[in-house]
Amino acid sequence: MTLKQTVAFIGLGAMGWHMASHLPKTGLEVLVWNRTEEKAKQHATTFLTQAVSIEQAVQADFIISCLPTSADVEQLIASHPPKSGSFWIDCTSGVPESAQKLSDVLAQLGSAYLDAPVSGQTIGAEKGTLTVMVGGDVLAFEQAKPVIQAFAGLIEHVGGSGAGFAVKAVNNTLMATHLWALAEGLTVLKSKGVDLASALSCINHSSGKSSMSENIMAQRVLNRSFNKTFALDLLQKDIGIAIDLIQQEQLQLPAMRMMQEQFALIEKSQAQSLDFSAAVQSLEKINQIELS
Ligand code: NDP
Repeated sequence: MTLKQTVAFIGLGAMGWHMASHLPKTGLEVLVWNRTEEKAKQHATTFLTQAVSIEQAVQADFIISCLPTSADVEQLIASHPPKSGSFWIDCTSGVPESAQKLSDVLAQLGSAYLDAPVSGQTIGAEKGTLTVMVGGDVLAFEQAKPVIQAFAGLIEHVGGSGAGFAVKAVNNTLMATHLWALAEGLTVLKSKGVDLASALSCINHSSGKSSMSENIMAQRVLNRSFNKTFALDLLQKDIGIAIDLIQQEQLQLPAMRMMQEQFALIEKSQAQSLDFSAAVQSLEKINQIELS
């Protein structure tokens, strides 16, 4: 008799909670672990997963992590390495260099590491339609793909170790740029007395639209809810990762650098408790114009 294969999800935060909820459809035995144990127990009750200890989680055949930073994942792997023959799928938005390091460390243990960050916000995690950008060994990717499929709308293998993290950092810097540029545009329109909801409707049927204009601006900024699903400090981290890449490559990319400065106007300690959309409040303060 062959034992049923297992998949463990580590980190049941805003994203992980929903992502792990789709894993039972893989047909594998689903284990969940969270630093705050109560959340894992609630997950098990809600989605018929199994709350386990970290020691049990890292014995799984497939391990998926979704933690705030690469440093958190490195720490976890150093204290609780996975078993030989396993696949570690890291959905954290992390640092490319760390992916290369972890890939080497796990290879020595006979295990494969894939950087597999996700995009699509909590709503995409809930619906199981996330975009997953994967870096690492192609063969390992093919073997891990059916598990990733559980919460994905699109899965792309984008290159070697760290490539997934690099694509994610650039994507989020673009998201920040779109949000900031839109906020600047609406600031001048408000100053000229234009109704912002009407302006946004025009933009959303014109060439200036983006997912920030189609979703975030109306749903979080204009209605002043700034509903938190993605913490601003995590976006600051992602822009920082992109800026490090630019420095390593010695490129001159001024708009990305400017975004780092603008999104850092709200201090990290405060940014932790704010949604990323609240970054536009810095612009509102400077110009004394509220986007409502
Ligand atoms: P959250 O802050 O909501 O959740 C973080 C999770 O990690 C929690 O389960 C937390 O446990 C756990 N955790 C934090 N630190 C540690 C640690 N040192 N050791 C073990 N567990 C730890 O974050 P998100 O779910 O929003 O984000 C997770 C990752 O996904 C980030 O890299 C983020 O950039 C990325 N991301 C987020 C998106 C979003 O819309 N929120 C979209 C796409 C990517 P505990 O419950 O104990 O606090």
